[in-house]
Amino acid sequence: MKKFSLLLLLIPTIVLANIPVKNTPIPGGIAVIDFESNHANPKASYNKVPLYVQHIKDQHYQVLVGIPLMEKLGKKTIKVQDFSTRLLDFEVTKQTYTEQYITLKGKNKKYVNPNLTHMDRIKKERPILSSARKIFSDKNLSSGLFIRPVNGVTTSPFGLKRFYNGEARRPHTGLDYAGDIGTPIKAPADGKVILVGKFFFNGNAVFLDHGQGLISVYIHMNNYLVKQGQFVKQGDSIGTIGQTGRATGPHLHWGVYLNQTVVNPNLLLGKINEI
Ligand SMILES: [Zn+2]
Repeated sequence: MKKFSLLLLLIPTIVLANIPVKNTPIPGGIAVIDFESNHANPKASYNKVPLYVQHIKDQHYQVLVGIPLMEKLGKKTIKVQDFSTRLLDFEVTKQTYTEQYITLKGKNKKYVNPNLTHMDRIKKERPILSSARKIFSDKNLSSGLFIRPVNGVTTSPFGLKRFYNGEARRPHTGLDYAGDIGTPIKAPADGKVILVGKFFFNGNAVFLDHGQGLISVYIHMNNYLVKQGQFVKQGDSIGTIGQTGRATGPHLHWGVYLNQTVVNPNLLLGKINEI
């Protein structure tokens, strides 16, 4: 037995493969920027936020930049840091997202104009959620494209401009998949559970860290099956579909963050025609 564990220790660390993301430099998209470096561990940042850097081959590296949904179009600049500091430009191009009008009635009205007690709770939850989205692990924890967390149809696309009872709200920051309450939700990629909890808007939620600022979130869950700090493998059940928090019906809201910016999860699935 001892010999066996020693052997395991001697096996070299598996080098993780890259995530083959297509260059989609639109608001809510991912800009893929290639560069050369002789450094073993070059770093990059956008507006001072660290970026996802992957090693392609030899001196060829690639940066993945999450572009905010509200980003202005035009020339943007990232900073690459190796033996020196360089600036690299990219261009954000236009994307038109559709609009949706939602009517919330009865007890669901509290989600349109929350009362003081709810506001208090929302304020307390805000820093917990935002610090989870700001986690940056130095190494990538997953490799390759993501898989879908559930099989249901997409009921609400990413980027949809939404109005609750006529009042404009933030555009839709994820993908909604329809599904019956209790349907298992699978981890789309390897990662670490960085947040598990019950929140006012999000209901039961799980946050997974896939490394280097790539974070996926699962919202409105019926229940969760993972603990904070736990590592999950692609395909592991992390919880089930529910209708907790601000949800008009049972569904999974799936969000993906890159450099603290919400991006279209379809890009991680390799689907570029569905944006
Ligand atoms: Zn949603």
